[in-house]
Amino acid sequence: MNKKNDTPVSFEDTAIAFNRKSDRELFLSFLIFWLTKSPFLVKFLSRAARFALAIGLPVKPLIKATVFKQFCGGETKAEYTRVINSLAGSSIGTILDYAVEGIEDENGFEATKQELIQIIRQSRSNPDIPCTCMKMSAIGTSDLFEKVTSKQVLSDAESKEWENLKRRLMEICEAAFQADKPIYIDAEESWVQGAMDDLAKKMMAKYNKQKAIVFTTLQMYRWDRIDYLKQLIADAESGPYHLGIKFVRGAYLEKERERALLQGYVSTINATKDDTDRDFDEAVRISMEHIDAVEICVGTHNEKSCRLMAEHMRAYKLPNNHPHIYFSQLFGMSDNISYNLAHAGYNVSKYLPFGPLESTLPYLTRRAEENTAIAGQMSKELEVIVKERERRKAAHT
Ligand SMILES: Cc1cc2nc3c(=O)[nH]c(=O)nc-3n(C[C@H](O)[C@H](O)[C@H](O)COP(=O)(O)OP(=O)(O)OC[C@H]3O[C@@H](n4cnc5c(N)ncnc54)[C@H](O)[C@@H]3O)c2cc1C
Repeated sequence: MNKKNDTPVSFEDTAIAFNRKSDRELFLSFLIFWLTKSPFLVKFLSRAARFALAIGLPVKPLIKATVFKQFCGGETKAEYTRVINSLAGSSIGTILDYAVEGIEDENGFEATKQELIQIIRQSRSNPDIPCTCMKMSAIGTSDLFEKVTSKQVLSDAESKEWENLKRRLMEICEAAFQADKPIYIDAEESWVQGAMDDLAKKMMAKYNKQKAIVFTTLQMYRWDRIDYLKQLIADAESGPYHLGIKFVRGAYLEKERERALLQGYVSTINATKDDTDRDFDEAVRISMEHIDAVEICVGTHNEKSCRLMAEHMRAYKLPNNHPHIYFSQLFGMSDNISYNLAHAGYNVSKYLPFGPLESTLPYLTRRAEENTAIAGQMSKELEVIVKERERRKAAHT
């Protein structure tokens, strides 16, 4: 494996990208991406799946063998362990993502916290799980985050909920600290993000004295994030503590724009995709300048950004496997990026959602809807799969 950084990275080798997939599995991936090319079909299929499950039709085995298999690790530990081992066979780490959504009561939040702590403890002795991740909205209501973000006065009951939520977050971060495994805190909608940012920053100041254990997430489709990044770096340097940041472009573009339009405020989202791309790449470049104190993960399927990041690493003479730099993609997507980067010796991980199939349906639906919304993403996935199928056909003749 090449751990030196003297050759430009390439994502073209589909034999490397799909070396763990049989012909049958590759065909299945092709079918899934082909079927989900149409937004109409995606909407129809996801509604049909939910309806069929709700009325007890026996569609679960079909869903499990198809979209669930493509994008999720499994329902049980035994199932997702097989996926972790397979990824590890290609030097790719796994970030277990407990994909249960829609919990809205204190008992549910406590149960989620326990599940997260258990995942963190399990990761402690497993080098194939380099870190874990969480959504703050999985341990408290979005309403509460929204109220705190907009500085509304909380009722007594809400204040108590807020204290409970902070305690849960602290327990999770403490478990990550004890296990010596970073935890990535995902970013969500702008109207709840302010409170989440503040909490994440407090956790970083507390747990990141020696290294980054707590990672916050910056969505670079927001036009205010470059200034925020500079502020975070200044605060961490004077702290002093390590800054852990996952950079993403942002998943809630349409929702953000719609709400801003409806409520008549200036959207926090960049005017164009080019602006988002510029800010994303600039944020990575700024972080490289402070790489001793800033630990980063780039969560992206954008080849150009990954290539540019690898170029920055070469320019700053950083080894491909620099411990402060991670690339990450979602399981089932952009394997040409993940597997080729890992093959070239970069640190790579995949977000691997797991959980009961019924609970992962919102995640699966979002995956398909987001993909159809992102121009070119589906065709890119299809393009590399078709290329690999043709390569295999030619090799067999
Ligand atoms: C490992 C991982 C972790 C993630 N974690 C999070 C998270 O915590 N929070 C979160 O919100 N998302 C998260 N995402 C999703 C991410 O934000 C993107 O939605 C997704 O990855 C697509 O962006 P891209 O960089 O891969 O690719 P690209 O296809 O290059 O970019 C698409 C993105 O560009 C932006 N964009 C598109 N059109 C416009 C426009 N007209 N104007 C301005 N911006 C535009 C949008 O953000 C869109 O999603 C994560 C993704 C990965 C791979």
